[in-house]
Amino acid sequence: MRLSRSFIPTLKENPAEAQIVSHRLMLRAGLIRQTASGIYAWLPAGLRVLRNISQIVREEQDRIDAQEVLMPTLQSADLWRRSGRYDAYGPEMLRIQDRHKRELLYGPTNEEMITDLFGQSVKSYKELPQALYHIQWKFRDEVRPRFGVMRGREFLMKDAYSFDVDYAGAVATYRRMLLSYLRTFQRLGVQAVPMRADTGPIGGELSHEFLILAPTGESGVYYDAALEEQDWLDEPVDVNSHEALEAFFNRVTAPYAATDEMHDTAAWENVPVERRREGRGVEVGHIFYFGTKYTEAMDISVVGPDGNKLYPEMGSYGIGVSRLAGAIIEASHDENGIIWPDSIAPFKAAILNLKSGDELCDALCERIYAAAPESFLYDDRPERAGVKFADADLMGHPWQIVVGPRGAKAGLVELKRRATGDRQELAVDDALALVL
Ligand code: ATP
Ligand code: MG
Ligand code: MG
Ligand code: MG
Repeated sequence: MRLSRSFIPTLKENPAEAQIVSHRLMLRAGLIRQTASGIYAWLPAGLRVLRNISQIVREEQDRIDAQEVLMPTLQSADLWRRSGRYDAYGPEMLRIQDRHKRELLYGPTNEEMITDLFGQSVKSYKELPQALYHIQWKFRDEVRPRFGVMRGREFLMKDAYSFDVDYAGAVATYRRMLLSYLRTFQRLGVQAVPMRADTGPIGGELSHEFLILAPTGESGVYYDAALEEQDWLDEPVDVNSHEALEAFFNRVTAPYAATDEMHDTAAWENVPVERRREGRGVEVGHIFYFGTKYTEAMDISVVGPDGNKLYPEMGSYGIGVSRLAGAIIEASHDENGIIWPDSIAPFKAAILNLKSGDELCDALCERIYAAAPESFLYDDRPERAGVKFADADLMGHPWQIVVGPRGAKAGLVELKRRATGDRQELAVDDALALVL
């Protein structure tokens, strides 16, 4: 994309309405604009980030055989009456009436709808297990929308739902999902620590929240440093073996990790002092086993192995896709702007033409740009070098390819790595090989 022709409206000043750094930077880097309280439009660069996050989430869901669907944003109130949640959900639910005075709602989550869809078509235990997910906009009328996309009212969520024949199957599915989440967050370039979460009235131990550390996080977090810097991408867990999944699960959940809601000061004392990590965190994912809560309430059953009615065991698994864009910036920025992880950056690199109009500089920039126009943001504006450097730092491209008159003569560029500030002078092809 050529910056001179793109809709990336960067701001020089800090917008007064933004209280936290990620919100400020998302507005300043031209990623989003608010259109109503807690409701945002995603501009071209922001949409690229949202798509990149979604794609990684999707690949990791597909990897564990969850199947993608797309359910609508609008749901009928009657569906929610069947589970008993229509009245229970309260004022966070946006309730709508159509012209025939039929009651609808903008979905805050999809347990009822997926259970109904499942029940319409699955009749026998032989068709289980099944896991379905979608990446869809949700609406929750939050009392206090704030922090930009981190606590919006309309937000993009990946929500998956699983159906298993029995408890053992449901637990295996849950553990598989936990591993999938660890891989997902690692690929997104962030450290998200799984922490035991409150299971509410259902009880049991099968609920985990994933938190990214950030000083502006809404939860207090306490965890053992043993959970840091683990590599889940090469983790050789056989996801088809219940034993292997159990061993993996026990290993991940053995070190202490809890949000303030679940904090146990006695257990915390047992963590060696040098390994205690304490701070604030942002919830970016949440997985939950809830058994037959919805299948029983909505009377959705299949025929079991003994010919009797069997209520499938369910779990639900959310990832805050749009919240992640903000949360990742909270965890990865400096005083000059965003530092995007390579995997989700809107562009792999900016090409900075330090002398637009100079024949050699223009020609070299065009040549670099032509190598991968989709991956580059070419700053071809007739601006001063200082402005281009500042905007590139603000937007957080992982690399900057700097083309100036002296280097251009020799076919050399300066390649800057945003995260470290390291610079090196390289021949164009060597720079391209590193970046692409
Ligand atoms: P929170 O505690 O932040 O209100 P939640 O526990 O109500 O979140 P869940 O029902 O667990 O949220 O939804 C799954 C995920 O959706 C959350 O882990 C979070 O990442 C994301 N999410 C929830 N509410 C919002 C929101 N208002 N804006 C953006 N993302 C959200
Ligand atoms: Mg909430
Ligand atoms: Mg929560
Ligand atoms: Mg939650």
